[in-house]
Amino acid sequence: MKLREDIRNIAIIAHVDHGKTTLVDQMLKQAGMFRANEQVRERVLDSNDLERERGITILAKNTAVQYKNVKINILDTPGHADFGGEVERIMRLVDGVLLVVDAFEGCMPQTRFVLKKALEQKVTPIVVINKIDRENARPEEVVDEVLDLFIELGADEDQLDFPVVYTSAVKGTAGLDPREQDSSLEVLFETIVRTVPAPVDNRDEPLQMQVALLDYNDYIGRIGIGRIFRGTMRTGEQVALMKLDGSVKHFRVTKMFGFMGLKRVEIEEAYAGDLVAVSGMGDILVGETICPVEAPDPLPPLRIDEPTLKMT
Ligand code: GDP
Repeated sequence: MKLREDIRNIAIIAHVDHGKTTLVDQMLKQAGMFRANEQVRERVLDSNDLERERGITILAKNTAVQYKNVKINILDTPGHADFGGEVERIMRLVDGVLLVVDAFEGCMPQTRFVLKKALEQKVTPIVVINKIDRENARPEEVVDEVLDLFIELGADEDQLDFPVVYTSAVKGTAGLDPREQDSSLEVLFETIVRTVPAPVDNRDEPLQMQVALLDYNDYIGRIGIGRIFRGTMRTGEQVALMKLDGSVKHFRVTKMFGFMGLKRVEIEEAYAGDLVAVSGMGDILVGETICPVEAPDPLPPLRIDEPTLKMT
């Protein structure tokens, strides 16, 4: 079976204030340091000043970093149980999850729900014990607490064997031992690449992309975000949109975006394993499937329970 060794898709879960934003910010900052090839990549943080000024969290829903030859897509996960449907859908988009836990505070009840969803959907967990620089940090105890929680939530054998990375997100350091920190997050990047499964590369099969999240932009209208589970998608191509009501609509893929840093980057072609955003599909809804006109093959609907997504 061929794999997309150039892609990893992960979600990130953390209790509020445990350092999710700081960690992702550091990952974005440091990613450029590990460039393995000569390709010129944009400095992702430069465009973000405006958002910073407005006080909007830098953790946009979709972020991506390039580590050596691997693009790591990072999806934020809402921590609140009201977003059960969204959490489930995000977990279908990814193969791994970073659980960020404060080295002093330990596991907080609010993360249980999201973690349970992740474990149920068999994503590969990586435990990140953050704020290791705190004076009263108690990393070993916190790892034991995480293990207890995993057992309680019904984690399988593989999931219980989770790797642990100790970080100080503010300092941008990481280590496999709580007392030994490298001066960068490289160990974290390496752990992601090594343990999170690479997507299957079946780019030659008929296209199947399912919309899991919606976004809106004044210029291009509604945007459907999802994972290509199979095949290849190209701009300019005619595709079938399998609507939730059972009807089929034909569209041309006018614009397609991938993620790099905090930006959406226009792309011409994307393959199985990629997370993409598409526009030009009319009133596209969560759960609808994009496939070739000649090979309609809708995926089962997804759970939707947020009121904002029921709008038409
Ligand atoms: P989020 O709510 O999970 O996104 O948490 P933030 O990234 O906003 O961090 C919450 C607070 O913890 C901020 O004041 C950060 O500066 C601080 N913080 C984040 N990571 C670390 C760390 O590794 N060590 C210490 N001492 N503080 C941290």
